[in-house]
Amino acid sequence: MKPIYLDHHATTPMDSRVFDAMLPFFMEKFGNASSKTHLYGREAEEAVEESRVRIAVLLNADPREIIFTSGATESDNLAVKGVAEFCKARGRHVVTARTEHRAVLDSCRFLEETGFQVTYLPVDSAGLVDPNEVQKAITDQTVLVSLMFANHEIGTIQDILSIGRIAKERGVFFHCDATQGVGKEPIDVETLGIDLLSLSAHKIYGPKGVGALYVRRKNPRVRLAPIFHGGGHERTLRSGTLNVPAIVGLGKACEIARAEMDTERGRLRNLRDRLLDHIQASLEGVRVNGHPWQRLTGNLNLSFAGIQGAKLLSALSPDLAVSSGAACTSAVPEPSYVLKAIGVPIDLALATLRIGLGRFSTEDEIWRAGEKIVDVAKGLRSKRWPAQVDRAQCATPLRRGPSRQN
Ligand SMILES: *Cc1c(COP(=O)(O)O)cnc(C)c1O
Repeated sequence: MKPIYLDHHATTPMDSRVFDAMLPFFMEKFGNASSKTHLYGREAEEAVEESRVRIAVLLNADPREIIFTSGATESDNLAVKGVAEFCKARGRHVVTARTEHRAVLDSCRFLEETGFQVTYLPVDSAGLVDPNEVQKAITDQTVLVSLMFANHEIGTIQDILSIGRIAKERGVFFHCDATQGVGKEPIDVETLGIDLLSLSAHKIYGPKGVGALYVRRKNPRVRLAPIFHGGGHERTLRSGTLNVPAIVGLGKACEIARAEMDTERGRLRNLRDRLLDHIQASLEGVRVNGHPWQRLTGNLNLSFAGIQGAKLLSALSPDLAVSSGAACTSAVPEPSYVLKAIGVPIDLALATLRIGLGRFSTEDEIWRAGEKIVDVAKGLRSKRWPAQVDRAQCATPLRRGPSRQN
């Protein structure tokens, strides 16, 4: 049997309804969406425009504000570098945070090489950026604030409303990488004051290699420079023949996510709470990373005190597909930069599991996953446990928030 898939922050399986919607656009309806002189082109164009509407409806945007890209990495690059390039005569400063996705952080690093200054704001122990810090970081040189909606490791949801308001007051564009939040949490670009927003289809049960960037057209009109030059597609912001089947899939994925968001959030919250209860009822010294309630309902990020991290994941991997709290890029295990930024001690960070529940996760799977995690953790716990560990570090249960119910 294949391992139970609990890594939905990395990617999601495609929904069969998305697949069905895409199918005709591979062979029968193969037209180029720019070929407006014949039926083939027009039926492709119509499908692309329908997708644009579906994405816009999900975000409360205008369809003309949606630019199709190859995914959130490209959307982040286009937003960060595109705004910086266009606005560089006005100022050369960008504000972001240490826990952003690599696509934003590495784009910012690139800007630094071209003479920009970047402020990487710290986060608190829950992973939140303090909006007052955003306020203080903005100078008369600042052209962009780029902060994510929800974190890809610990699930923390930022105070986007306050950050959007500050950016607007200060006349600075606000880019939000909402790849993990789109389709899972209500996101309204108008009420939240978001000027640019990145999203990706494969995180919401759509195909890989397609995404979008929302670019505000008025109040204020966002100006940015393209990265790709060519035929002038997508309001000249992203040249290149559109990937019609993928775009159709993205639109369908957004439509389904919107229709099912409320019930799915509740269902995932329930499953997640059960999984956590199961684990914490049988094991001491399990720390929940991230915010106690301002978080994605499908996310559980757990550190296991008194366990060697490398052993934990290898013991689980035949049965569970989960991600670790270690950076997989190096030979020597290093804790992830997100866990470092929220101050998780190194040993604990290395013994961390990122569990991502999703649309097709069942009660039975979650129960089996809980059993497996408890079994493996008990077996690996060092003899010196619990003497070696400060138990207070682990006393962070999930709580229901005053306003949010995540
Ligand atoms: C997955 C992810 C990305 C990258 O998206 P791709 O479509 O895979 O390029 C960017 N930001 C966040 C927060 C993500 O989770």
